[in-house]
Amino acid sequence: MFRKVLVANRGEIALRVIRACRELRIPTVAVFSEADRDSLHVRLADESVCIGPPAPAQSYNHVARLISAAEVTGVDAIHPGYGFLAENAHFAEVCASCGFVFIGPTPEMIRKMGDKSVARHTMREAGVPVVPGSDGLLGSVEEALPVAEALGYPVIIKATAGGGGRGMRVAWDQKQLRAGFGIAQAEAGAAFSNNAVYLEKYIERPRHIEFQIFGDTHGHLIHLGERECSVQRNHQKLIEEAPSPFLSVEQRRAVGELAVRGARAIGYVNAGTMEFLFDQDGSYYFMEMNTRIQVEHPVTEEVTGLDLVKEQIRVAAGEVLSRTQDEVEWRGHAIECRINAEDYRHGFRPSPGAITYWYKPGGPGIRVDSHVYAGYVVPPYYDSMVGKLIAYGKDRPEALRRMEIALEEMIVEGIQTTIPFHQLALRDARFQRGDLDTHFVESLLKTDPASSAEGRAVAR
Ligand code: ADP
Repeated sequence: MFRKVLVANRGEIALRVIRACRELRIPTVAVFSEADRDSLHVRLADESVCIGPPAPAQSYNHVARLISAAEVTGVDAIHPGYGFLAENAHFAEVCASCGFVFIGPTPEMIRKMGDKSVARHTMREAGVPVVPGSDGLLGSVEEALPVAEALGYPVIIKATAGGGGRGMRVAWDQKQLRAGFGIAQAEAGAAFSNNAVYLEKYIERPRHIEFQIFGDTHGHLIHLGERECSVQRNHQKLIEEAPSPFLSVEQRRAVGELAVRGARAIGYVNAGTMEFLFDQDGSYYFMEMNTRIQVEHPVTEEVTGLDLVKEQIRVAAGEVLSRTQDEVEWRGHAIECRINAEDYRHGFRPSPGAITYWYKPGGPGIRVDSHVYAGYVVPPYYDSMVGKLIAYGKDRPEALRRMEIALEEMIVEGIQTTIPFHQLALRDARFQRGDLDTHFVESLLKTDPASSAEGRAVAR
């Protein structure tokens, strides 16, 4: 097992990794920017190193500073968390060349799956259905027009290096494709330093359902079932649950096996997620793979009883997966609400600042993964998530009821949060039936009297 682990991240995921390390009795090193000096991850780690000013480029995304911190503290492994450098193949490479184990897949695997167009090709070769689309990248709108014609409108222009819901643009006709193509390229270039784009058929009312997979270095690869992530705004997830209320046992097995087949095609190691879009008619398509731990991993942990972060560390240390596919069992239902420092009534406007009062709910089946406390100041420099509220129950109704009660109990003062949004969503009849698609939030806000006109207009 590792001697010491450096956690190259901040916020709740840094805390989550530190807790897993403590269970495994591995000392930890936290890194922090000047804006995070008072963060809980700094207090709970055994050692901590300031790595620079608040801007991510000067701190959490600064490879040389992270490596220096790892060197001076004498760690032997680095956990990247999610976001920042978690899917940066160069960082994984530098870690390895400096003698640190990167707790995640190899740089080659990250590279293969990080380029969406290459990933589509790889999955198609492996026999996994992908969203109908262009055969690789498109250099110009002239190249794109006949492809869109053949696919049929609407189509979606996607940045091959895209991530975090950015770098996508829908075109409903030729005119919009002509107008959107260059903009999408420019946006992709600015956001990812790579302006390459490709086309996919735009699926109009899909469900986003993703499969958690896990591989070890001994050739074992399993899936841990799915997460329903259709409740999103601007392609960003807000509520996730496991299992999906939509899938049958047979579908779970069939798509789970496909996800494993796809991951096996690149010999995948460590935690990964295969994202699929499910059409209204039940057909499904691979969309992309995330080569890291996901924000929403706790719902899978709750229903499988497996600690995914501990498993990541164990597998990176060369141990065998703690379960075979046959030993994976799903029990009950779990749901996660992302508590963001945002005012949903005004288009989810960010609401950073000091948290003057913080009371977190408890009771059977309630878990709160959060790095904040009363007196904590939410910095404006990073993503706005202040915590994740997770409810578990023997079935979906019990999990939902527990979540409702927890949302009522939870008190956050000083900033606006997405708690009222979640209460609105949970009360909705469609949500309660599990009748979801990726436009659920948009339609929910359209009829919400509390939302400002501006808030409703920018709901997506
Ligand atoms: P990112 O890497 O930025 O998260 P994804 O490729 O995972 O991007 O897509 C994010 C979201 O965008 C999906 O969950 C879905 O809501 C929407 N989306 C992506 N591709 C399509 C498509 N072909 N048709 C309809 N919606 C799509």
